[in-house]
Amino acid sequence: MHNVVIIGSGCAGLTAAIYAARANLKPVVIDGHEPGGQLSLTTHVENFPGFPDGIMGPELIENMRKQARKFGAEFRSGAVTDVDLTARPFRVKAGNVDYVTRTLIVAAGASARMLGLPGERELIGHGVSTCATCDGFFFRGKPIAVVGGGDSAMEEANFLTRYASKVHLIHRRNEFRASKIMLDRARANEKIEFVAPAIVEEIIAPQGSVEGVKIRNPQGGDARVIEIHGLFVAIGHIPNTAVFRGKLDMDENGYLIARHGSLTKIPGVFVAGDVQDHRYRQAVTAAGSGCMAAIDAEKFLEEHRD
Ligand code: NAP
Repeated sequence: MHNVVIIGSGCAGLTAAIYAARANLKPVVIDGHEPGGQLSLTTHVENFPGFPDGIMGPELIENMRKQARKFGAEFRSGAVTDVDLTARPFRVKAGNVDYVTRTLIVAAGASARMLGLPGERELIGHGVSTCATCDGFFFRGKPIAVVGGGDSAMEEANFLTRYASKVHLIHRRNEFRASKIMLDRARANEKIEFVAPAIVEEIIAPQGSVEGVKIRNPQGGDARVIEIHGLFVAIGHIPNTAVFRGKLDMDENGYLIARHGSLTKIPGVFVAGDVQDHRYRQAVTAAGSGCMAAIDAEKFLEEHRD
């Protein structure tokens, strides 16, 4: 029987682990499919407070892991395949291991949807990015492209014009899912050139970092190459919430709904990080919500000593 099981080992889960471990609760962290979460896929992190010279994403994650372990957190590899939240203690199944726990912190994160092109994942940190706020700064004075036609793509394209010399906004259709106000703002921005309808066929990176993309009009015609140094994929995120369907409240996009901080409709189950946040999606906000979830779990255990 565990006091706290934490699902997810990104910034939110690890911060929850640090707090819960320091409260002597001996938390168990189940790593998940992507140990370390999205930070482990980034390179230089320059906006996490306390690191004036920046820090590499994987190093930041490793530090958090070390810090949690130092206070007594335990780590288990594997991904959660089922949960039973109908009664306390809760049951969590990961592979063929069953965990029984008094409280549960869900920090399973969200994964950026990718285009599925060869080399795309390997080029993350070498020109391919899924986070303008994190990586825009690296493309000062350089041409880049954003792929997507939703609010995220418009927002990222607008944001990136602060740094980039030019932003090509590549979208597969002539119609945009983005809200009118966001679309109008992007259209009014002189640094943004709309390239639609167009599909990215290939990322050109002969030296191991992005130098261009080959695009094609899906309605026909020849492919052409746009020379860019950065490719921002903004085609949505997928929260890792499949195992909670029907068990916890979620919005129409599958994000878990937190009430009053990290609380859910089930007493003793708490949520933190991107699994419940499609708005901020920052390492520091994920860490903050992980802290909240651990404090909420600690308070809950205190109030339910039986
Ligand atoms: P989204 O609205 O689902 O849009 C995703 C976009 O990516 C769509 O244009 C889609 O094209 C395109 N896409 C999906 N898969 C693709 C693929 N394989 N190849 C090429 N293009 C692909 O996602 P989002 O923009 O991340 O927004 C998610 C939610 O957050 C929305 O509700 C949005 O309003 C909200 N949001 C709000 C703000 C804000 O208000 N400030 C900012 C960001 C996000 P199709 O249209 O052709 O399907």
